[in-house]
Amino acid sequence: MPEPSPNERLRNLPSVDDVLENTYLDRLRSMLPHQIMVASVRGALESARKKLLDGQDASCNAASLAQTAEDIAEQMLNPSIKRVVNATGVIIHTNLGRSVLAETAVSAVTEAARGYSTLEYDIAHMSRGSRHDHCEKLICALTGAGGAIAVNNNAAAVLLVLSEFAAGHEAVVSRGELIEIGGSFRIPDIMSLSHAHMVEVGTTNKTHASDYEKAITDDTAMLLKVHTSNYRLIGFTESVAGHDLRIIADSASQKRRSCDPHAPGIIVYEDLGSGALISLPVDSEHAEPTAAEALEAGCDLVSFSGDKLLGGPQAGIVIGSAELIERLKKNPLARTMRLDKMTLAALEATLRLYLTPDRAQEEIPTLRMLEAPADTMKSRAALLAERIEKNIPAGCARIEVVPEVSRSGGGSLPMYDIDTFAVQMSFNAGCAQECEEFLIRENHIPVIARIKQEMVLFDVRTILDDEEQEEIANALAGYFEKISRAETGESTASKGV
Ligand SMILES: *Cc1c(COP(=O)(O)O)cnc(C)c1O
Repeated sequence: MPEPSPNERLRNLPSVDDVLENTYLDRLRSMLPHQIMVASVRGALESARKKLLDGQDASCNAASLAQTAEDIAEQMLNPSIKRVVNATGVIIHTNLGRSVLAETAVSAVTEAARGYSTLEYDIAHMSRGSRHDHCEKLICALTGAGGAIAVNNNAAAVLLVLSEFAAGHEAVVSRGELIEIGGSFRIPDIMSLSHAHMVEVGTTNKTHASDYEKAITDDTAMLLKVHTSNYRLIGFTESVAGHDLRIIADSASQKRRSCDPHAPGIIVYEDLGSGALISLPVDSEHAEPTAAEALEAGCDLVSFSGDKLLGGPQAGIVIGSAELIERLKKNPLARTMRLDKMTLAALEATLRLYLTPDRAQEEIPTLRMLEAPADTMKSRAALLAERIEKNIPAGCARIEVVPEVSRSGGGSLPMYDIDTFAVQMSFNAGCAQECEEFLIRENHIPVIARIKQEMVLFDVRTILDDEEQEEIANALAGYFEKISRAETGESTASKGV
């Protein structure tokens, strides 16, 4: 009989009811409502249909579809957001949740989540309060700003600032700063969403003060500066600092007001991106201004993320004068981007640590990981190597402690090399790619390592504690156990037993 054509196979797919009735689903049927079972079976049929349409092979009998439906239902029953071990050495890893919170921030989240709170209640006045109050004073104290607002993330902060101050008017930005960062945030797109008219100046590599000066018209509302977070321009380059933008904006505003005393001034706004609150010990070539420094340099408004170098929860913080921040608070968009109580609790607790910079340094994992000296990494890597050696069968891998480079990640300190040490494994049994896959897909806590040529590397800088080291060692034991089982299975099979 000829093979059925894909179209025939599509037509012959069993019905939802046929799959639902399969005994394979008996166990789940007793646990889950009918509606969820139906959704799982539909999912299984849909994926088989897709495979057939793509010309791939798919098993299409009721029993195998029921198995797929079971997997789909199981996936719903199990948490999708799981803890992972980050052995990549990328500290602010956007795919892995960016900053790890300080313990005090974690407790604050639990506390806020578990009971009622003063989220919008003012104890002193025994009346309605504002959720903005919890963090504003802290941010102002830490940055010297007159006002501050925290919203959902920095992308939202940029949209809010542009919408309030540049909608329907011109905002001038350097061509060297028209960035795209991960997750489809592009400055030109945010500009058009905010209804600001983007005026590009300069070239990709060089923008001069005179470029801004020449671009300013009566309709210019803003000079926008954007931190080139995930790349660096090196070589024949020039950009204009916040301080100089201030001078340009002031002189143009003054000229305007000589004709019309009520003409609005030009706002200087810097999207700092990662925005550290304290100076980080990086060399001058890679150093970035802190939020306070950006403000002091002359920007009216500065915005930055909560979960990058600040080391807190996802948030976008805007600082500036009390008057400008008040306008942002009143913008209806602010309501659509407001922070929830758990994030506010985490942010407040993180900010409070900065009141004592030494505590911030010690207790905020992002800062701790950034600044941990290479020597400490070396001894930690030695410990991890030892743990691994102890856990895996002798001779199946070569294990070395090697110098490596960690990254800050998350669009912060681009190209800044952080000296570190990693445990490097080359394989006599199995191979690096297969091991990587096992660590991610089959270990109950996924371990995300780095692959380099035919080796797997574990950078200890982002491995949080001894327990995580144990987790890696155990996961590797599991991997070698699996391949040895597969090998003995194969050899018995080939003997025809
Ligand atoms: C990261 C970043 C953003 C976006 O911040 P999120 O908090 O991720 O929304 C915006 N601008 C710059 C320059 C950035 O580096």
